[in-house]
Amino acid sequence: MDNKPVILVVEDDKPIRKFIGVSLETQGYRCIAAENGKTAISLVFSHNPDLVILDLGLPDIDGIAVIETIRPITKAPIIVVSARGREREKVEALDCGADDYLTKPFSVEELLARIRVAFRHANQNQHGDVHATEKFRVGELEIDLEKRRVFMENEEVHLTPIEYKLMVLMAKHAGRVLTHNYILNEIWGSYAGGDVQSLRVFMANMRRKIEKYPAQPRYILTEVGVGYRLADE
Ligand code: CA
Repeated sequence: MDNKPVILVVEDDKPIRKFIGVSLETQGYRCIAAENGKTAISLVFSHNPDLVILDLGLPDIDGIAVIETIRPITKAPIIVVSARGREREKVEALDCGADDYLTKPFSVEELLARIRVAFRHANQNQHGDVHATEKFRVGELEIDLEKRRVFMENEEVHLTPIEYKLMVLMAKHAGRVLTHNYILNEIWGSYAGGDVQSLRVFMANMRRKIEKYPAQPRYILTEVGVGYRLADE
């Protein structure tokens, strides 16, 4: 036995399944694979994988149903794989408990970056919220969580209270996509005001404050039709 993290790859397309498997094995992960949803669910029960890569278009059961079945029994991050243009499906998967997504076709580099982010967040959740008294830094952006101040290239950026909350929320999940619904619920609560349009306005204002080229953001990234992601590397 070794201590390699075990990744379950659920994909009915054999060439893609093999490609992912080989890519992960060469990076030091151990791979198990399923070609349909039912096998995937039984492998989650029997092998307790550390991470799941799940194609949403499966021959037997809906990928969303797989997430709903396995989410209550495993804390393993779930990265869904979906076709371009299936934004509603991605949002549904994320709101049901998936952690991130990849759009086909994707590169090995993208896949590995998503896996690293997912494992990092999973470790943080296990060891408590490490950000509570720390500084968050990516590129020239720095958030001092203790003093509640934000800096860009060492210059203080003045954010409104809601902008600051949005920034901290994204920093805590840096590298991960957050759906519009998730952000609205976290910042405004389920019943309070706040809609996707006003969220866009807040994000546009924040970009004007922190981005050198707000139309080509380096930090606050838009995931079209899905939500936002704060860059992490
Ligand atoms: Ca498929």
